[in-house]
Amino acid sequence: MDLSIVISLFNEEESLRELVAWIDRSLSPHGYQYEIIMVDDGSTDRSWEVVTELSQQYPQIRAIGFRRNYGKSAALYCGFEAAQGDIVVTMDADLQDSPEEIPEMMRMIREDGYDLVSGWKKKRYDNVATKNLPSKLYNATARKVTGIKLHDMNCGLKAYRSEVVKNIEVYGEMHRFIPYLAKNAGFDNIGEKVVHHQARKYGKSKFGMNRFLHGFLDLLSIWFLQKFGKKPMHLFGGIGTLMSLVGAVIALWLIIDKLVSQARGAYFRPVADQPLFYLALVAIILGVQLFLTGFIGELVARNAADRNKYNIRRRIR
Ligand code: UDP
Ligand code: MG
Repeated sequence: MDLSIVISLFNEEESLRELVAWIDRSLSPHGYQYEIIMVDDGSTDRSWEVVTELSQQYPQIRAIGFRRNYGKSAALYCGFEAAQGDIVVTMDADLQDSPEEIPEMMRMIREDGYDLVSGWKKKRYDNVATKNLPSKLYNATARKVTGIKLHDMNCGLKAYRSEVVKNIEVYGEMHRFIPYLAKNAGFDNIGEKVVHHQARKYGKSKFGMNRFLHGFLDLLSIWFLQKFGKKPMHLFGGIGTLMSLVGAVIALWLIIDKLVSQARGAYFRPVADQPLFYLALVAIILGVQLFLTGFIGELVARNAADRNKYNIRRRIR
């Protein structure tokens, strides 16, 4: 099978017929052997009925229906698991992404050797104030943190070499950072293609403004996990040791200073009268706690199911 198209959908009943017809129309001249995997993320409208009807009309459609709304990441995860094609493409169900981009994206993977090609909605047809501008800022931050030079990290339209999606685990709301997950799994040949974008034709957007806050927090988590997930002690132990050490040195200095002045019969301030002493105490206590957090982190990391998961590229014999 050449291609699997994974589509996550949540209450998109009006769009689905047009979407499948459009995909069929754009791909049939190319003669690919392909499948469409529709993942119904717990829709409460007639989406599943429409998918059922479509699957009778188009044999290339396979479908998965969730019992409730689990989110786009969960839907993509299950779609990726089911995908059988050599190349896997994801796209939104709302007719904003154009399937006509797929052949060129496939070519970039097959011939130019990309692991992942991400769409870039250069000319975007969404609300300027609530989406386009925040999205620019957000993408700039994501570029800094991840080191991946993509303009539109969270574009729904992406193509992957099948290996990539089989070796990453999209969970929570991490669908926004799949390129980063891929990079951390060792798939670092990441390309970008400018894609046509359309205004939403039916229904309404499923993500509100809190997407940016959540996205930013998720970005921090994923950065932390990739940097210290397997060695938490290096972070917590490092900061903890430094803080305790600074605190101890200050406290010691205050005590010695007092004792020396006292011995000389000079003026001295009792140690417990000095603000600096309390700061030193706080530093010592926090430092020890951070250090212990490091130990607990190590215990957790030791029990992680993927503690020994590595992607092997090649072997000899
Ligand atoms: N979606 C989903 N589960 C959800 C929310 C959204 O499967 O909980 C799907 C939705 O049906 C659409 C895609 O994810 O196919 C992108 O959603 P949307 O168009 O609302 O996002 P936007 O284009 O506004 O970023
Ligand atoms: Mg959309």
